[in-house]
Amino acid sequence: MNIAIIAHDGKKAEMVSFLMKNLDFLHLEEVSLVATGTTGTHVEEAGLKVTKVLSGPHGGDAQIASMLVEGNVQAVIFFRDPLDKHPHEPDINMLMRLCDVHNVPLATNPATAYRLLYGFDKERQENA
Ligand code: PGA
Repeated sequence: MNIAIIAHDGKKAEMVSFLMKNLDFLHLEEVSLVATGTTGTHVEEAGLKVTKVLSGPHGGDAQIASMLVEGNVQAVIFFRDPLDKHPHEPDINMLMRLCDVHNVPLATNPATAYRLLYGFDKERQENA
């Protein structure tokens, strides 16, 4: 299972602290993280293993969207910064739209992301 991790600049610290706080729910022994470039670097610096694609503004969101439509991303945690402008807004919208088209869970803030991971964790326990 691959979970995509993306955070805008104003949200990168929040993403790292979210992941570290919820490591037990992430189950990185069976879940792989894929991230846009700069987010991925931050996550690596925190000691986690992650596959990096290009930085968001250079097409990273589009690469993740492409993986998603091919069935290779099962959830997206995308901490967007609603207080900032983004040159790659069309790519961001495309990724979110494709999550809806393909019914892939998308969490855009820590409260939802926590519940998403909690849900996967519960499913894992039920299927064990
Ligand atoms: P970044 O991209 O992780 O390379 O900063 C995130 C984004 O802005 O989509």
